Amino acid sequence: MIKEISIGISMAALLSMLIMGYDITPFLFLAAAAGGLYYFARMRGLINVKNFETVSVAERRDFSFDDIGGQESAIKELKEALDFIKNHCSIKHLGIRPLKGILLTGPPGTGKTLMAKAAASYTDAAFVASSGSEFIEMYAGVGAQRVRKLFQSARETASRQKKNNALVFIDEIEILGGKRGKTTSHLEYDQTLNQLLVEMDGLKVDDNVRVLLVAATNRDDMLDPALLRPGRFDRRVKVDLPDKEGRLQILKLHTRNKPLAGDVKLEAIAKDTFGFSGAHLESLANEAAILAMREDSQEICQHHFNESIDKVMMGGKLDKKPSEADMKRVAVHESGHALLSEIVRRGSVSAVTVTPRGDALGYMRQTPEDDTYLYTKDFLENQIAIMLAGSVAEEIILGNRSTGSSGDFEQAVRAADTILRSGMSDLGVVCPDSLPQELKHKTITGIVNGQEERVKNYIIESKHIFNSTVEILLEEEKISGDRFREIMREKLN
Ligand code: ATP
Repeated sequence: MIKEISIGISMAALLSMLIMGYDITPFLFLAAAAGGLYYFARMRGLINVKNFETVSVAERRDFSFDDIGGQESAIKELKEALDFIKNHCSIKHLGIRPLKGILLTGPPGTGKTLMAKAAASYTDAAFVASSGSEFIEMYAGVGAQRVRKLFQSARETASRQKKNNALVFIDEIEILGGKRGKTTSHLEYDQTLNQLLVEMDGLKVDDNVRVLLVAATNRDDMLDPALLRPGRFDRRVKVDLPDKEGRLQILKLHTRNKPLAGDVKLEAIAKDTFGFSGAHLESLANEAAILAMREDSQEICQHHFNESIDKVMMGGKLDKKPSEADMKRVAVHESGHALLSEIVRRGSVSAVTVTPRGDALGYMRQTPEDDTYLYTKDFLENQIAIMLAGSVAEEIILGNRSTGSSGDFEQAVRAADTILRSGMSDLGVVCPDSLPQELKHKTITGIVNGQEERVKNYIIESKHIFNSTVEILLEEEKISGDRFREIMREKLN
């Protein structure tokens, strides 16, 4: 506004001078030079340096650790670190140096940003957020200036909000804090990181506004060792994917404002979603609500959740409609996977579908028995059998195989490789990297071929269930795990 008024006044003054007969050429030159300089400085980021995201007091007060599900141990560790800041008087008294930085590490979407916001609320601090990518420019010096501006902005925001603490959050810190000398434009990267180190070293317990840096990354292996040494990021908190109980808590949080039908079983959904992050679960709840709205339903039912699990796992439904022959092949293929899955572990099939989603033309979803982090040899061999069953079923039922199994084979070979590397193959404990390629290849192929023979026998014995499952899949596109088991009981007993 002020800029517009000044330009207006200057124009009016120049016009009056022109009318009064003055030569205004020098003024025009001056204005052009000033404009050019201003434009150049803006281009280089020297003027109007980014305003970093600050969260309003009202928004921040609403957000607490209670709004984060499934991260009990991470929250406990973080709170312990934050208590140092809350009790700054005793820290000063005992001569403890202040905590300068907390590094949150973990996979994407697990709630690192939420933790930083809740940390600001917990310590009654002003919150200023930015991302590593916002500091990287072509021109040397701009990133460093932005780092200075970020800390300055945190102090100013805290003073404005009459707070003694400020929390600076930098997401994707690996972009700005990567190992020095590794990038081509290393001068700019190095200067930016150096400035961050300088700012961290300058943080003191008796500052008017005590600043805490919280950073997040899912690539802590890329960080420069200078950032990780004691006195910089003093605390590292691991924010991992949630376990079943954690997933249930997150689902409860994200469905608390949604009308759920009586048939919704959040425990079952939590069980079915092994490997989902908090962000996946939030999206799952949202997609289920969207599906309910599309069906004009006043409540969100279990089948909306089931459908949205598929959507979040595999991607949205595709418009492409495969030919009838391809659809039949996909139905046979997926029935093969499901049959083997039920044979090796009863009750393990959650759903079989022939709806094209993402890269897949069909899909068999398993219910994990429990969250599993260690795998036995039997488990891995069974997984290989399930992976091979699609292709074997095509061969036995339709007379030949297709190109649709390459992804399955990759997974089967990977599982066989894991057996070898874990010392569970016939070779015993070996150093896989110094093993002759031929022997390695022979061992892996031996494991896979052994399972292929096993799968062939199972599918030949159970051939007659395919007619029913393929027919239903072609008509209805989907069979639930319970229905699949019912067909198996009817046909195989
Ligand atoms: P990235 O590493 O990709 O930056 P992040 O770990 O910072 O991800 P957030 O941005 O905190 O993840 O989470 C994204 C969204 O996912 C949140 O807004 C929230 O809706 C949901 N979410 C993630 N984790 C949790 C959780 N533990 N509890 C509740 N909601 C969560």
